[in-house]
Amino acid sequence: MADITLLSVNKVFSGTPALQDITTRFEDGEFIALLGPSGCGKTTLLRLLAGFEMPSKGQIRIGTRDIADGHKGVMVPPEERNMGFVFQSYALWPHMTVRRNVSYPLEIRRFSKKEILKLTDAALNTTGLEAYADRMPSELSGGQRQRVALARCLVSNPDAVLLDEPLANLDVALRASMQAVFTDFHKRTRATMVYVTHDQAEAMAMADRIAVMDNGRIQQFDTPQNLYERPKNRFVAEFVGLGTVVPVFGVEKMDSLAHGHVLGKRIKVQSNHDSPSHVCLRPENLTISETGDFRAKVARVTYLGGKYLLETVSDCGTRLLAETRAKFDVGVQLGLTISTPWAFYEE
Ligand code: ATP
Repeated sequence: MADITLLSVNKVFSGTPALQDITTRFEDGEFIALLGPSGCGKTTLLRLLAGFEMPSKGQIRIGTRDIADGHKGVMVPPEERNMGFVFQSYALWPHMTVRRNVSYPLEIRRFSKKEILKLTDAALNTTGLEAYADRMPSELSGGQRQRVALARCLVSNPDAVLLDEPLANLDVALRASMQAVFTDFHKRTRATMVYVTHDQAEAMAMADRIAVMDNGRIQQFDTPQNLYERPKNRFVAEFVGLGTVVPVFGVEKMDSLAHGHVLGKRIKVQSNHDSPSHVCLRPENLTISETGDFRAKVARVTYLGGKYLLETVSDCGTRLLAETRAKFDVGVQLGLTISTPWAFYEE
């Protein structure tokens, strides 16, 4: 196994850029999610890694081996990249049993019967499919079919597994339980996994690091915690989690803590920039209190199970989100206090 490196990778479709100057590295054994809105280039990036598309410019390497180079015209075909694929559509062979679907890649590579049996049994066991080995794909649920696709990857012992929205066809409850199947699969195999999704809860729950993409570029590549708590720019702050981005003025910095004016109050902010321009106010940064920094009116209340999300509008017209255990009615005036939000610089 080895790291995957992308150097200045661009992909243009009929004059329109789908990926722009992607330089990044996926470490060996990491679970990476590619997250972003529709059309941001997630699937294109995955297809370049898989070898289904050639970069227009730039290089892709596994370890020290060039697998694609837009300039030199190097393009290692998908079957020589030792990568497994899991698609939304499962892509199982409908006329083969579960066992045969899993063992088929080994048959093609002319493994001995004994080895095929051993490796297939191990893959079925890891994915909890022993009891379904003799069924046909049509006799399985969506989640079970996706397990077969995983088992078929596993049996080939790939360096990396590329997954394109594999849970998109499943219902909410099954998606949650399948997330555990994927993370378990990752723990056991330690394969590098690159997982495309537009569902941030899914990405947050599973990935070691998430590449948040927009408009063909990686906006921030970081741990789920850092993306939420320390967003690099407005796009990440607004795309990941709930919150409102507002300007901060007159920042004076001392180490990682700073003071600045937010919504007319001088407050503490956190930042890794010397002169940040905006803060991201998450619900955790707002506390309801009678003696709050400013007044806001409740505009909408949503029950989240055990707590409420309050959408409020401040006196100066800013929409702010707060969470409470107590129920408030629409129209009520509240006091809100801001505590140490994250500040970033935006041009
Ligand atoms: P989604 O979440 O909707 O699947 P995505 O982030 O995976 O979106 P891509 O499928 O990578 O986005 O597409 C990125 C951009 O490239 C889009 O504007 C898309 O229309 C364009 N694109 C993708 N494939 C092709 C193609 N084969 N020919 C022309 N344009 C393409």
